[in-house]
Amino acid sequence: LADRLQQTIKKMTGKGKVNEQDVKEMSREVRLALLEADVNFKVVKDFVKKIRERAVGTEVMESLTPGQQVIKIVKEELTLLMGGEQSKIAVANRPPTVIMMVGLQGAGKTTTSGKLANLLRKKHNRKPLLVAADVYRPAAIDQLKTVGKQLNIPVFDKGTEANPVDIANEAIEYAKQEHLDYVIVDTAGRLHIDEQLMGELTQIKADLNPDEIFLVVDAMTGQDAVNVAESFDQQLNVTGVILTKLDGDTRGGAALSIRAVTDKPIKFAGMGEKLDELEAFHPERMASRILGMGDVLTLIEKAQENIDEKKAKELEEKMRSASFTFDDFLDQMEQVKSMGPLDELLGMIPGANKMKGLKNVQIDEKQIVHVEAIVKSMTRQERQDPGLMNAGRKRRIAKGSGRPVSEVNRLLKQFEEMKKMMKQMSGMQGGKKGKRKKG
Ligand code: GDP
Ligand code: MG
Repeated sequence: LADRLQQTIKKMTGKGKVNEQDVKEMSREVRLALLEADVNFKVVKDFVKKIRERAVGTEVMESLTPGQQVIKIVKEELTLLMGGEQSKIAVANRPPTVIMMVGLQGAGKTTTSGKLANLLRKKHNRKPLLVAADVYRPAAIDQLKTVGKQLNIPVFDKGTEANPVDIANEAIEYAKQEHLDYVIVDTAGRLHIDEQLMGELTQIKADLNPDEIFLVVDAMTGQDAVNVAESFDQQLNVTGVILTKLDGDTRGGAALSIRAVTDKPIKFAGMGEKLDELEAFHPERMASRILGMGDVLTLIEKAQENIDEKKAKELEEKMRSASFTFDDFLDQMEQVKSMGPLDELLGMIPGANKMKGLKNVQIDEKQIVHVEAIVKSMTRQERQDPGLMNAGRKRRIAKGSGRPVSEVNRLLKQFEEMKKMMKQMSGMQGGKKGKRKKG
């Protein structure tokens, strides 16, 4: 999929203006990409129409190829469609703030309740209470208790005999007494939507009047997720959506469709089973994921923000000609460090996650300090020409940097690999000097 898009982009490099034919071609690809990403058919149709209108006749920015330009528009629109970043949680005028978690069985309500409590405590300095209102399965109550224990967050439960409305009401009283300021109610789910479940949830809602109703949706379920979201929202008028299991191999289309169909903000994303793996939802990242192309544009933007233009140009030249030295490396490391966490950056490079070897590279910020020490222990000549390196020099560098010789060796090897990769990448991106079939 990404390959197809990239092919089309390639074909379009070197043009000064986006013409109608380009846009037609691009929008066909975008349409396929979206459908393949499991975006709702109707949403795709409306979307592509909008892109066409916007893209036709757009002047190409100097720094971007027409293909990239169209992709940029597509990405901007996709991001818009999924809403801005929305990780805010309501705060009640008089505590506790009540959050009701709803969703199908297995969507991740219980886990996410714990994650949310954890986040509220850690990031917002709140004191949450978890409430076990899923009374149909004893295991569900135990599960929430286990979560609470792991996090050291209190769990309110009354076993399976009480009814959820009473439990929640008592929990709120309890929270007031104990000066806890958030009450997170983990409700029951079913495998499918049914009237009884909805009836019960509606009743809880009417009685508690929660400040937030978060619909928890499993992103892996694709189009089903959209139907589920629609019915839950119709019945309960939810205040936000939390997408779980985005760490899995989902194509992300569900996110887009859910937002488009319900018009409710996606507030958080579950990125793993662990209780700290809940993140603010980033529409922009999701847009890239849907387009299957990595955060190319964010990378471009980030680079423009942080890297001095002239240096970037020089670097680009060097990457192309492969005359990249350890001095450049050091220089670049300084610049990269100002751009943010490395693994995040690496994730933005299209195809980087597919490159062999790179997948298993653990990026450890501490290691960077070591690398710097090693490079700084090299002489000027050695930095310019790593070919000079011999056993004696390596030992001297190891001593100077306080790192083992094996580490020096590894860095030298990695440096060569990196040079090779840069050469490939600068070829891949085409650019002004890249090969083109059609111009
Ligand atoms: P509930 O029935 O809605 O309460 O769902 P649970 O909280 O019991 O979660 C169902 C399963 O999904 C559990 O095995 C969770 O560990 C798993 N799960 C929940 N959220 C995530 C997530 O963001 N990523 C992954 N990989 N698994 C998740
Ligand atoms: Mg549960």
